Amino acid sequence: MANSKYEYVRAFEQPDVLLPNTWIVVRIDGRGFHGFTTKYKFKKPNDVQALELMNAAADGVMRELPDLVVAYGVSDEFSFVFHKDCTLFERRASKLTTTIVSTFSSYYVYLWPKYFPDAPLTPPLPSFDGRAVVYPSARNLRDYMSWRQVDCHINNLYNTTFWALVQLGGLDAKAAEKELVGTLSADKNEILFSRFKINYNNEPDMYKKGSVVFRDFDIPSTAPNALTEAAAIPPASASTKRLSSHPPDDAGPPQSLSKTATERDRKRRVKARIVVAHIDIIRDEFWEARPWILS
Ligand code: ATP
Ligand code: ATP
Ligand code: MG
Ligand code: MG
Ligand code: MG
Ligand code: MG
Ligand code: MG
Repeated sequence: MANSKYEYVRAFEQPDVLLPNTWIVVRIDGRGFHGFTTKYKFKKPNDVQALELMNAAADGVMRELPDLVVAYGVSDEFSFVFHKDCTLFERRASKLTTTIVSTFSSYYVYLWPKYFPDAPLTPPLPSFDGRAVVYPSARNLRDYMSWRQVDCHINNLYNTTFWALVQLGGLDAKAAEKELVGTLSADKNEILFSRFKINYNNEPDMYKKGSVVFRDFDIPSTAPNALTEAAAIPPASASTKRLSSHPPDDAGPPQSLSKTATERDRKRRVKARIVVAHIDIIRDEFWEARPWILS
């Protein structure tokens, strides 16, 4: 095809290819959700339906993008992790980020009526911003995930105490805020328990720990026939890599799978069950029990 005289403008596009062999995290966050939650009367501090909707939208994103290995959500944010070997969109940051943001936003709006049947959406419609960050080692990635989950805990403890003071203690927002200035975790637990008989430990795990979304591969306990086994075992790459108690060593070159193996891997990921769990991802346990996530 002949180039037009306008072709030169393409040179203005800046490359934004992300560093190879690094874990890519795309974190999205609801825009102006403080106001949005007021408009739709979200229950404070945690509206269950709103959290379930976020998780359902993340499930949709995981299904449409098999390159994603795990996601973590809290409040109005979700972090999506692409495998370090991912080559989707030649690893172009804007392509990856905008695809996640728009897929998530579409699902959020599409699924809204299922979770809020009595509150139809009206403009301004919910939207999300997004950014891509790369982490060079599995340790860095896990520290990122831990950072988000610790943030979830700190914010939820604060919000739970704040709203107890307001909703049960009759304080106004200013007074509740003042009451909490300089308090440590132990103080907030104490306020909740002594004044409102709330044991923070008994709060729902979804509030305390956020939501982890990942692919699960059922490993049958009895010897399966060849057909069911094909659909059920973890990706080939998982079994060929060592299952250590530490994050996989990222120092080596990327494992190059043959084209058919890559395709087989992809099919298994597409077929896998997507699970939403509200569990600790800071300790090793979660990762050790599911070695395929970071392998
Ligand atoms: P920005 O556009 O800068 O992100 P924002 O108003 O969205 O602004 P955030 O820091 O992202 O600010 O805070 C999200 C807000 O939405 C918080 O006030 C949080 O309490 C509220 N929120 C999010 N999810 C829920 C939920 N499930 N139930 C109740 N409130 C929620
Ligand atoms: P990619 O994900 O790489 O963008 P794509 O399939 O979207 O892949 P594009 O180059 O964006 O590829 O092409 C968009 C396609 O959609 C073209 O085939 C175009 O003809 C078709 N298309 C877009 N809008 C219309 C329309 N209004 N009517 C008919 N066809 C359309
Ligand atoms: Mg923001
Ligand atoms: Mg926000
Ligand atoms: Mg937020
Ligand atoms: Mg096009
Ligand atoms: Mg297109």
